[in-house]
Amino acid sequence: MAGMKLLLLTLYEYSPLFHIVVVSLCFLLTAAIVLGWFGFDVPVMLLSSDETEPVTPTPERPMVQETNPFSLALGSGPASVSDGVSLKLGCLGPCVLSCFWGCEVSALQRALHNHQQNLKLTCPQHFLEALHLHFHYHQMFRISRGDEHECHTCIPHDQSITDFGPLPRKHYPLVAVLTLAETEARNLYNIVASVIVIHIPDDIYRLSARILFQYLLTSQGDVHELKPLFMSAETSGPPDLERSCQPEETQMEGDPLREETDWSEHIGRNCVVCQNAAVNRVLLPCRHACVCDSCMLHFQHCPICRAFVMESFALRATRT
Ligand SMILES: [Zn+2]
Ligand SMILES: [Zn+2]
Repeated sequence: MAGMKLLLLTLYEYSPLFHIVVVSLCFLLTAAIVLGWFGFDVPVMLLSSDETEPVTPTPERPMVQETNPFSLALGSGPASVSDGVSLKLGCLGPCVLSCFWGCEVSALQRALHNHQQNLKLTCPQHFLEALHLHFHYHQMFRISRGDEHECHTCIPHDQSITDFGPLPRKHYPLVAVLTLAETEARNLYNIVASVIVIHIPDDIYRLSARILFQYLLTSQGDVHELKPLFMSAETSGPPDLERSCQPEETQMEGDPLREETDWSEHIGRNCVVCQNAAVNRVLLPCRHACVCDSCMLHFQHCPICRAFVMESFALRATRT
């Protein structure tokens, strides 16, 4: 007892040393617990999943090449409810453009749904019947086969329509429908109609004119939404996104379209990873077209937006 008292007194006299010893003991104890818990491979937690060695290959989505006979883009010049809008068309055969101004959203969805059932929409008359007067104004143009035509569609002033109702809307400003004019031509293409929903600025919603959605209807009763791909353009200057949003640059999810020659013109040796091989992979769901086939094997995340890659598809069939 007296010895213990003497020891504590001695330690108290050398208090700085006593504290150092206590702190050191605590540190060693903590270090021992941490190492005992995790083992010696603690730094593994800092590795990103891209760097771990065996990368499981992302599933490839099987694609079918399909020719889309329809092409529509917004034409030059201003677009408004009072002055109408110009539409630029380029079709592979004679076709009919039907413009439905102020088309009811639910009526269009119902018509597309019916197409998937068995009421196929293959000619302008079918669309007129399916929409059944659920629109403000209808105008029709016949377009001959050719490179580029510009049509101007406008609601007559005597209809005195200045807007398409309060937000959220029950009416689309403009729905443009393209169908093939000749019955025989409908057997040439699998795609029988193209439905393009266009926003036109009005007094209530002044967002500039743009294509909101684009649907392709097939003879088998499928409805595909046409979505843009995001890829770098060869030419410098205009922003990439702007280019890739044009219908010419788009590819249908599930069914790619456009002729192969179109693609090879735009694709250079510009893989964003190796900077050496041609871009040939579109990553899903982000739709960035940015890597070549061999770089694709090393990635589970998109190198542009870091989104996890669920699937991918090839722009051109890989030569074996
Ligand atoms: Zn590459
Ligand atoms: Zn991406």
